[in-house]
Amino acid sequence: MSEPRVTIIGAGIVGVASSLWLQRAGFKVTLIDSGPVGEGASFGNAGNISPGAVVPYLIPGIWREAPGWLLDPDGPLAVRPGYFFKALPWLTTAVRSATEEAALATSRAMHALHGGTLEAYATLTRGTEAEDLIELSGQLYVSEKPGAAQGSALAQRMRAMAGVKTVALDWMEIRELEPTLAPIFKSGMLLPNNGRCKNPHQLVTALARAAERGGAFILRGKVDGFQKQGGRVQAIIVDGKPQPVERVVIAAGAASGKLTEDLGSHIPVEAERGYHITIEDPGVVPRIPVTNTDAKFACSPMNVGLRLAGTAEFAGLDAPPRWQRAELLKSQAQRMFPGVRLDKVTRWTGNRPSLPDGLPVLGKAPKYANAYFAFGNSHFGMSAGPVMGKVIAEIVAGERPSVDVAPFDPARFEKTRTS
Ligand SMILES: Cc1cc2nc3c(=O)[nH]c(=O)nc-3n(C[C@H](O)[C@H](O)[C@H](O)COP(=O)(O)OP(=O)(O)OC[C@H]3O[C@@H](n4cnc5c(N)ncnc54)[C@H](O)[C@@H]3O)c2cc1C
Repeated sequence: MSEPRVTIIGAGIVGVASSLWLQRAGFKVTLIDSGPVGEGASFGNAGNISPGAVVPYLIPGIWREAPGWLLDPDGPLAVRPGYFFKALPWLTTAVRSATEEAALATSRAMHALHGGTLEAYATLTRGTEAEDLIELSGQLYVSEKPGAAQGSALAQRMRAMAGVKTVALDWMEIRELEPTLAPIFKSGMLLPNNGRCKNPHQLVTALARAAERGGAFILRGKVDGFQKQGGRVQAIIVDGKPQPVERVVIAAGAASGKLTEDLGSHIPVEAERGYHITIEDPGVVPRIPVTNTDAKFACSPMNVGLRLAGTAEFAGLDAPPRWQRAELLKSQAQRMFPGVRLDKVTRWTGNRPSLPDGLPVLGKAPKYANAYFAFGNSHFGMSAGPVMGKVIAEIVAGERPSVDVAPFDPARFEKTRTS
């Protein structure tokens, strides 16, 4: 009997991890991307690999802070003028998600996806060129305000409920742990069991090569839509030409919404744009990834230099970048790391695939028997990716998923349709 086949749309961390797990489950994989492998959001993120990421962005209190951020041109959150009314339905649903009850449920679901990330990466990277790219490094959160780095009482409760180890640090202990930091931080939190990726792009491309060695076809082409018949997807339309498929997984990150609409499913995925700068030869490199919890960005030691990554901007998928947001990270670098050299700086922007309840979709397409959705990890896709891939492979193979997938149900937005 010939191998069962599956076509995966999107070669970011989710699509590539899904390829490897599906191969292990006995599928012949075709992975297709409109661009080079790993050049979507998975290219330039901060590389924080965080089993302890169990605190959603949408928690009570965020909407007291958010208007202040929006009014501050240098703030961590921006909605591009002209895009506000388009983003409004998403923002409205997000506001509704920021209740304590919803946030606690989201936190439990995040724990299910993130908790096993380091083990899942260890399985996928073993024996590949990516083997040394992930490490248990710990992560350090810092704030200039006393007592603020650990977040709200609810955030601390969520970490405690998930068994996430944290160590509170005062300014002296921060200095001892990370002497490269300026002495401006009054509170800190160490998450010793979190990790880092030394280069997310190298990681994704190395894993894709491993999939290729295992027999995957990697194709370049833009999927424009689907040919459907009798509740099944017969073919994907690639650059205008139909290509037959047996099963199809949509893992196209922030661009997935256009594809799911063609399958009759409205999934309100927004492009939540982020920016980074990567400083080659910075002279000063922290030993441990540092997150600035006041300005909401991460500082990551990479094998290509020091990367500062963050900011959230709603501007639409195809809007041109606003590079001022990346430039701001240069002054942040100087403020946090005295003596840092900024002679060789590259900048990047990418779209986080974000859903308004803070969770991805992971499961079978509601209206088509042989289509599956795996996207929407917003700020946490590098952490969720390897487990997402494992779970979608289990679902495609008809096995019982190893994670409770009810919170990630792709049909959940039909009940609260906002746009
Ligand atoms: C600034 C920033 C910092 C971040 N930091 C972290 C972090 O520290 N830790 C963490 O866990 N997460 C982080 N993230 C989030 C993380 O990067 C994303 O959640 C994750 O990369 C999403 O992966 P993906 O595979 O779903 O999407 P992507 O990597 O975007 O991949 C989707 C792919 O689909 C392709 N595609 C789209 N449409 C089509 C089509 N029609 N046809 C064919 N191909 C198509 C695209 O070309 C792309 O390659 C960060 C994100 C940003 C922007």
